[in-house]
Amino acid sequence: MRLLILLGAPGSGKGTQAKLLAEYLGLVHLSTGDILRDEMRRGTQLGSQANQYMTAGELVPDVLILDMIKAKLILDSMTRGFIFDGFPRTVAQAKGLDRLADEVGARIDRVINLAIDDEVVVERLIARSGCSVCGAIYNDVWNPPRRAGFCDKDDSALIRRSDDSESVVRNRLNIYRQQAKPLEEYYSHRALLVRVDGYGMTGQVLARILISLEASGTNDRTQV
Ligand code: AMP
Repeated sequence: MRLLILLGAPGSGKGTQAKLLAEYLGLVHLSTGDILRDEMRRGTQLGSQANQYMTAGELVPDVLILDMIKAKLILDSMTRGFIFDGFPRTVAQAKGLDRLADEVGARIDRVINLAIDDEVVVERLIARSGCSVCGAIYNDVWNPPRRAGFCDKDDSALIRRSDDSESVVRNRLNIYRQQAKPLEEYYSHRALLVRVDGYGMTGQVLARILISLEASGTNDRTQV
């Protein structure tokens, strides 16, 4: 089982890229943020434990995240691999993932680091909205829906994430920057890290990622 990791600040576009890559490479897309939001919506114990952290833009404790990832890996153990989006966020989570990978016989192929400036991120996130039904993402400035407030695909209402307010976004960015450096070093020491420019249109960024995977021999759709 192969594992790909997408690192990148909130708003770097890693969610969008992870979805596309998962489809292209035939991997399961695993976004810890999406799973936690779903747990909150369903009112589960994990959802209520995560709620206070997420509302403030703080990180949910490592132990909760690692238990959640372990459950997903075991549940989907027959899949050819996973692409992680928003995980790991700390070195402790990265070490935990190494242990889990050993347990389930998986290996980390590559860690893609989507690089982008903070100010671009703030601009992107405070203008972001998403479809309440299909999850399609819009941006008031760069990618507005045809009819304001409604999804182009299914006409459902668009909603904004409560943690996309400017103050919470800045807090999420600060936390990300503190954690990112040691995490990047952790993977760079193992020669797993590739840096990809996160600017530009979705298709351009995807092409850059695929080229960098190709260059490192990990862009093989048939690889298991
Ligand atoms: P995201 O959707 O990736 O921007 O994550 C939204 C929020 O979920 C973060 O601000 C954290 O509160 C929480 N979260 C998501 N992934 C993790 C993780 N790997 N570790 C800790 N907290 C996380």
